[in-house]
Order: sequence, then C-alpha cells, then structure tokens
Amino acid sequence: MTDQTVQIGKYKVQVLRDLCIGATSCIAFSPAVFQLDGENKAVIQEGGQDTPENILLAAQACPTKAIVVTDAETGEQVWPK
Ligand code: SF4
Repeated sequence: MTDQTVQIGKYKVQVLRDLCIGATSCIAFSPAVFQLDGENKAVIQEGGQDTPENILLAAQACPTKAIVVTDAETGEQVWPK
C-alpha cells in the first residue's frame, strides 16, 4: 500500500507507513480519523472528520513522526517541524 494523503478540513494529512509502528497514539487523539489496518499500520478513515486541533495533536503524539500535516491552502508543512 502506498502512503495515503487525505484532506481533512484545512489540513492535508499523510501517514508514512514505513515509519508507523502501530503505537495507536494517533487513534487515542482522533479515533474518527485514524484506525489500524490489518498490518497494524495507521490508516486514515474514508470520510473521517475531526477538528484541526485534534488532528494536529494526533500527529504530534506519534512517537515516530509518521503523520505529516500540511496546510492545504498554503502548502506549509505544519508537522513535523
Ligand atoms: S501514532 Fe504513529 S506509529 Fe502510532 S499508529 Fe499512529 S501513525 Fe502509527
């Protein structure tokens, strides 16, 4: 599976599968958006919505920085810095 990039509200969110270790921290912060797949890697739920704050917290909680958050309007990478 290739890395998934999904726009959720004002952010584009990408999960770098090679970095994901299935720690589930992202799911704790944003279960509507993140789930584990059969390989214990985080995937972004189709149609999943959450606040920008929760999405950013989920990304910041990831111990391996596997979640990349980009401002969809400006293209600026918001996380990881
Ligand atoms: S917190 Fe990071 S390592 Fe853990 S499941 Fe989410 S993306 Fe994967």
